[in-house]
Amino acid sequence: MNGALHDAMDAAVDDAANDAVDDVVNDAVDDAVIVGAGPTGLTLACDLALRGLTPRVLDRREAPHRESRGKTLRPGALEVFERLGVADRITAVGRSHQVLRKYFDGAHAADTPVEGLCLIGQWQVEEALRERLAELGVRVEFGAEVTGIGQDADGVSTTLADGRSLRSGYLAGCDGGRSTMRKLLGIPFEGHGGGEQSMVVGDVRAPGLSREYWHQWFTSDGGAMLLCPIPGTDSFQLQASPEADAEGRPLPPSLEGFQRLFDRHARMPGIRLADATWLSTWRANVRMAGRIREGRTFLAGDAAHVHPIAGGFGMNTGIEDAAALGRALGGETSLEAYEADRLPAAAHLLAHTSARMERVVAAVATPGTGVEAGLD
Ligand SMILES: Cc1cc2nc3c(=O)[nH]c(=O)nc-3n(C[C@H](O)[C@H](O)[C@H](O)COP(=O)(O)OP(=O)(O)OC[C@H]3O[C@@H](n4cnc5c(N)ncnc54)[C@H](O)[C@@H]3O)c2cc1C
Repeated sequence: MNGALHDAMDAAVDDAANDAVDDVVNDAVDDAVIVGAGPTGLTLACDLALRGLTPRVLDRREAPHRESRGKTLRPGALEVFERLGVADRITAVGRSHQVLRKYFDGAHAADTPVEGLCLIGQWQVEEALRERLAELGVRVEFGAEVTGIGQDADGVSTTLADGRSLRSGYLAGCDGGRSTMRKLLGIPFEGHGGGEQSMVVGDVRAPGLSREYWHQWFTSDGGAMLLCPIPGTDSFQLQASPEADAEGRPLPPSLEGFQRLFDRHARMPGIRLADATWLSTWRANVRMAGRIREGRTFLAGDAAHVHPIAGGFGMNTGIEDAAALGRALGGETSLEAYEADRLPAAAHLLAHTSARMERVVAAVATPGTGVEAGLD
């Protein structure tokens, strides 16, 4: 980054701090409305605020979530966070050294150290970004669902479910895989459902289970269960092949189901899972938006692409999309450059995460191998 931009960013930080947080309630025309306060929208908001622009961040959730979801930050995302002044607080919570402990049919098979990635829960990343954003004078507006958009040569009009309407120079749809903005813009989400692959996921406590390892149990019948300690908490992220009913249909996640899966895979009778603060099902989907720009509106993050989780690229790619969109909206590159840069990146992402997923599924049939097969 050049010195002049650095100076401009420093000045913007000072100005924003003086302005406090009034811009969440005023009626002024904002530079950009950002729909969605996940990692993508929050990164973009910090980037724009640092450039002295006025982002307005809207999220339909009533309050922030506390779900571990994306839990691995890669060096590219950490570089972005460094520039935004948020890397230190993330690496202070996250863990850069992990040991993957692999078991096969219940028996310990191998330990593999992994360096260079930052393990941290997604909610903790979002919390750090919201704190940074507040320092820059912007607060996320929760309970603000966007239901309509229109645009003309001068700007974008945004309609909210509560009847309010806003005017901005640009709009960024960072509203996740089921993106309403993408649908409102009529942009196709091309690809396929990724086959039958699905997982139950959640956050649980597992008193008595060592927090020194990311535990990974695999079985000769193709089953898997992973329990990863989330730093700075007493919980583990659980990922497992789902239980099936008599017809072979996957059962929804539950704490009791997690315990049955744990007993079957880990064979550690003394350990009782507890306090499931998040229960969900993840289904493979391999899709990308046909376009990520329509005039003054843009798509970024999961709204633009969804793909297998092997290698942990979802949140990371959203953060890099946000950085590229910040450069375009900040005038450092052209608006055209955003789509020219990020659409091919999304296509590459879909292809290489699908290949990684196949590699992991094949590799874990060999005792002692785990998700590191998709990490490099
Ligand atoms: C089990 C699991 C493990 C994962 N592991 C990893 C990993 O290791 N590494 C990694 O990089 N990624 C990982 N991911 C993927 C990662 O969670 C996603 O890629 C990431 O959340 C995408 O961020 P986003 O900001 O684009 O979208 P989201 O996080 O989905 O945020 C979108 C936001 O938009 C809001 N919103 C939606 N519609 C509207 C509307 N109409 N108006 C206002 N607000 C709206 C939503 O409330 C939400 O807060 C994992 C996911 C799962 C489930």
